[in-house]
Amino acid sequence: MVSLKGKSVCKGIAKGPLLLFVPKGGEQKSSAGALSPAEELERLSAACEKAKTQLSVLYDKAMETAGEDGAFLFEVHQMMIDDEDFQDAMKESVEEGLSAEESAEAAGQQFAEVFEAMDDEYFKARSADMKDIASRIVRCLRGVEDDVPALTRPVIIAAEDLTPSQTIMLDKDKVLAFVTKKGSENSHTAILSRMLGIPALIGVDIYDENLEDGITVIADGNEGVFIADPDDETEELYAGKIEALEKEKASLSEMIGLPSETRDGRKVKLFANIGSPDDLELVKKCDAEGIGLFRSEFLYLGRDDFPDEETQFRAYKEVLEGMNGKNVVIRTMDIGADKKVAYFGLPDEENPALGMRAIRICLTRPEILKTQLRALLRASAFGDLSIMYLMIASLSEVEELKEIFRQVKEELDSEGIAHGEPEQGIMIETPAAALISDELAKAVDFFSIGTNDLTQYTLAVDRQNEELDRFCDKHHRAVLKLMEMAAKNAHENGIWVGICGELGADESLTEEFIRMGIDELSVSPAALLKLRKKVRSI
Ligand code: PEP
Ligand code: MG
Repeated sequence: MVSLKGKSVCKGIAKGPLLLFVPKGGEQKSSAGALSPAEELERLSAACEKAKTQLSVLYDKAMETAGEDGAFLFEVHQMMIDDEDFQDAMKESVEEGLSAEESAEAAGQQFAEVFEAMDDEYFKARSADMKDIASRIVRCLRGVEDDVPALTRPVIIAAEDLTPSQTIMLDKDKVLAFVTKKGSENSHTAILSRMLGIPALIGVDIYDENLEDGITVIADGNEGVFIADPDDETEELYAGKIEALEKEKASLSEMIGLPSETRDGRKVKLFANIGSPDDLELVKKCDAEGIGLFRSEFLYLGRDDFPDEETQFRAYKEVLEGMNGKNVVIRTMDIGADKKVAYFGLPDEENPALGMRAIRICLTRPEILKTQLRALLRASAFGDLSIMYLMIASLSEVEELKEIFRQVKEELDSEGIAHGEPEQGIMIETPAAALISDELAKAVDFFSIGTNDLTQYTLAVDRQNEELDRFCDKHHRAVLKLMEMAAKNAHENGIWVGICGELGADESLTEEFIRMGIDELSVSPAALLKLRKKVRSI
């Protein structure tokens, strides 16, 4: 038996035969054998066209299996092939005498390095997309078809890395789990695996000499472990774990439609956290009673310019209409810290988590906030919207934000544009906000506690740094005391209080949160029914 550590990017446990996937290369045509630059350019252009046709087929396939979110990537890949700078880089190399294959590879490498050097994790992950595109063009030049194994039985796939196109082309009904050596949590393959709900591990040494095709392996996405050739004791242990997971899945669907209340009748609203309107389907499936956190910054990521008022309005309206009158809390954009976007032109900072982030950007450059508030106010005519500001540390910030809100509303009124009357609340995610929550509660309509940042700022532990995990006690009394203080001050001032950070889904604390009087827990859709079951057992 061999047990290898990895990092889980999608939870769940799978057991089955291993399929080691090492893609075939095809024959390299070197510059020595290159045709004339004009002929190589013609080959290159034909290969780019072929690659785009393949990508449009993949787009359709992804729409069927992974929805619009999964398919979008293949549209992006087609656009990346047409990118003028990328095309120029390839053509220049051909004109210098390299073969079309070498030119595509060199340009892919050059652009991948540019993405790799970026600070923003999202753009860093696009480096793999650039390599994927270049190798697709090279395969088209070599006449090699897309290289994915035809699956004849359910398997656990282990690979050096999986490109998004390979992932989408695999017959997912026969993939029990993905295990790769490379890849990041933000890579599209990881995103796709989460969307498809297939357990996935990255950072696993798939070159271990004991790994052979066909042997029985276990991918444990809950513990981040990959086990090859398990001994009898481990097999038995995992048979129990898998059975328990299956039973749990079945029992969770029984929670749909049931009230979220304790046995003695204490109610807590169970809401869902989302990042885009595409998550609505999942929200409905898990029977969420509302949306407690729409991280609107995702509308700003992966673009090269600000989303305009209309784009934002459409996204917010879609979510509000999709929720059919249920409450939707949309927070203003949380750009900065780990979510840097080039077009914001933010300065490099020594301590980005303590820097120009969220409302600090909004109050420094109010035009950005005004566009978002106009879109939000207009959308509020289509449902029950609550607007949430974040990274609050002082009462004066709230007063300034409310004044901007008032001006925007006045502007819309003078233009005769319809809007609703959304609640305005704040996230409690700095120790300062919790400590002055008595004053803040008088100025806003609700609190939602962001335990991810509240923990980071209270314990002075960078949430991005995995090596500090052992110093980050998620149940630290200091954090719980601040939460309790905020809850008490909220209720004494007649406003509601929720939790939208990860701790909200921590079932070992559910009872304590109910005792504190928390009115709403907003968690990832996948955690919601399990949490309802927990609440009903108290
Ligand atoms: C939080 O800080 O707890 C939170 C919900 O916000 P985010 O994780 O997006 O910073
Ligand atoms: Mg936060």
